[in-house]
Amino acid sequence: MATISLGFGRQNFRLFKRSFLLLKLIAVVFAVLLFCEFLIYYLVIFRCNWPELKTPAYDGEQETLEPVLKAMFLADTHLLGEVRGHWLDKLRREWQMERAFQTALWWLQPEVVFILGDIFDEGKWSSSQAWADDVERFQKMFRHPRHVQLKVVVGNHDIGFHYQMSTYRIKRFEKVFNPERLFSWKGINFVMVNSVALEGDGCNICSEAEAELIEISHKLNCSREELHSSQCGDGQPLPRSAPVLLQHFPLYRRSDANCTGEDAAPPEERGTLFKERYDVLSREASQKLLWWLRPRLVLSGHTHSACEVLHGAGISEISVPSFSWRNRNNPSFIMGSMTSTEYALGKCYIPFESTVLITYCGTAGFLVVLILIHFGFLDSPFIFGCQLLRKFKTV
Ligand SMILES: [Zn+2]
Repeated sequence: MATISLGFGRQNFRLFKRSFLLLKLIAVVFAVLLFCEFLIYYLVIFRCNWPELKTPAYDGEQETLEPVLKAMFLADTHLLGEVRGHWLDKLRREWQMERAFQTALWWLQPEVVFILGDIFDEGKWSSSQAWADDVERFQKMFRHPRHVQLKVVVGNHDIGFHYQMSTYRIKRFEKVFNPERLFSWKGINFVMVNSVALEGDGCNICSEAEAELIEISHKLNCSREELHSSQCGDGQPLPRSAPVLLQHFPLYRRSDANCTGEDAAPPEERGTLFKERYDVLSREASQKLLWWLRPRLVLSGHTHSACEVLHGAGISEISVPSFSWRNRNNPSFIMGSMTSTEYALGKCYIPFESTVLITYCGTAGFLVVLILIHFGFLDSPFIFGCQLLRKFKTV
């Protein structure tokens, strides 16, 4: 009888040990998933703060602080479509962007968010069903409270390059995203350009786009009081402030050779000459935009890498890197504190993909070691240490 009960006891102990191991494994997997898929976004984005404006506005003796607008700029989200997107790739990238965006929204509370084109990867050829699916996923990922404005600029992947774009694709895009080109808030004018239509070949879409820009230029000149009031009509005047130009294609630059920083293009690619109307706008279109609008700041996407360029009379252009891990290991977004006369920009990195991958690989290795120790294929570090000490003592 005693041997039978001893056998049962041993069996129970083995069962308990195995269940304990299983529990340990589940706890580790759960903790790592929670960290890599959720907490890491808070840990990383908590380090970002709105940049401070250097000089507050003064009015005589009394300081009259102008209202500051908190604007967030991101670019090239490239939501994968049904043709080129593997479901796992899609799931992973979209979850990452959703978590990063929602965490940033909660922590930083921007008033307006601008996405600088290439929202979708396959808007240039997607069927109406695929387009509707992509839009639905976008709206879920980038959901935001009503008091936060989300403004979107069109990119070549949304409607196709100049040779692919059609009125149908533009209308389809503008049905989802407001087609407004001019947006003013807190005394700041933002001009959102369809840079794909600045081919300069006189096509219908291009002519319309240019006519719209000339009209905006006219309104801006009225706000600068450079035109006689009879030329400006009765409409609501724009705030008297040089605009911030937002577009997908960057203004013309030869290459990224002068770009620096950890998220600039890789050194071996920086010297590659850009193709006008493909990588960057043509010289002519860039010059027209600068003449017509006289912006104080330009923000663009498309290159997927960061860069800061100075144009003409010191107009700064910021290339906003891609927000998707599919395009880079270290995505980021730009945070802007803006008034009608000043602006300060800062960059907020979101978690690096390599950190997440290293954490997963490290955990997988740790779990394998734990299992091997449990089944006796490896000595536990404690036993190994004792054996080592014993060996030294005998020597
Ligand atoms: Zn693009």
